[in-house]
Amino acid sequence: MAACKELTANLVHDFISSVDTILCDCDGVIWKNNDSIPGAAEALKKLRLKGKRIFFVTNNSTKSRKQYIEKLLNLGFEAYPEEIICTAFAAASYLKHSLKLNGKVYLIGSIGMAEELDLMGIPYFGIGPDPVKSLDMAEWAALPIDNEVKAVLVGFDEHLSYIKLIKAGTYLNDPECAFVATNEDLRYPLGGKIMIPGTGVIVGAVKQAAQREPVVLGKPSKYLFDSIMQSFEGVTPERTVMIGDRLSTDISMGRTCGLKTLLVETGIDTRVDAKENQKSNSIERQKMVPDYFITSLADLGKTL
Ligand code: PLP
Ligand code: CA
Repeated sequence: MAACKELTANLVHDFISSVDTILCDCDGVIWKNNDSIPGAAEALKKLRLKGKRIFFVTNNSTKSRKQYIEKLLNLGFEAYPEEIICTAFAAASYLKHSLKLNGKVYLIGSIGMAEELDLMGIPYFGIGPDPVKSLDMAEWAALPIDNEVKAVLVGFDEHLSYIKLIKAGTYLNDPECAFVATNEDLRYPLGGKIMIPGTGVIVGAVKQAAQREPVVLGKPSKYLFDSIMQSFEGVTPERTVMIGDRLSTDISMGRTCGLKTLLVETGIDTRVDAKENQKSNSIERQKMVPDYFITSLADLGKTL
């Protein structure tokens, strides 16, 4: 069972000395939507000065690595392309290197995902609003089907439509067609009254349409950490910490991979949520308990 202790100033030094690699979630830890979280850049800078290796690990599939670098630099963070572990890049990489895909992708996703597929030389279509506007069954029955589609890839798509679900479900009716999803985060509170349905809602719709389960690459899956270990020498679970704001993705992934885990309270979950999980008997909820919590990355930075 994880301790779920406050990372007080007197514990920070020993904790940080116990790791070489920092996996840093993005939204809720270093930025909130388009604004940086105060003190986060300074904290990461101090960690770099102490020789820590940093990776930015985000489930948000809307941007490519290049777009994340631009965002990080604009917000005053130091960052390098190989440090960006985003699900758009992970998806393209998985299709190319793990599946060795020989065919086209039907993409329910973003321009960022399209950019990563382009860089990997993987042909795809489906981006943007679907051109078929008709609600006529006869027209649906005559939809052209591309026999070269060998995978359906699903991420965040603000142009999701019924016709896209027909196409995804149809391609996935072929058991040989791979089904890959970037992540399954269900909702994103924006502050105020608005609640944004997350990629998990879109993936859920495709799952129901297809009656199949996808390979999910984002947190809490182990895929992102495994790919870091494969690509970078010297990264070990014992000397890596996952810092995140969401218990069901960041902390659960950290626990599954055998990493140290630190919850910051600048995003979605708080110590109260973590302690509630700690009281539960369910194995799944026990994975959503961090070793430590701290109010913010800024507080960590102040004691370094
Ligand atoms: N996916 C989308 C579309 C988002 O907008 C967000 C957060 O803003 C996320 C995923 C979660 O991102 P992260 O893993 O950086 O918290
Ligand atoms: Ca987050």
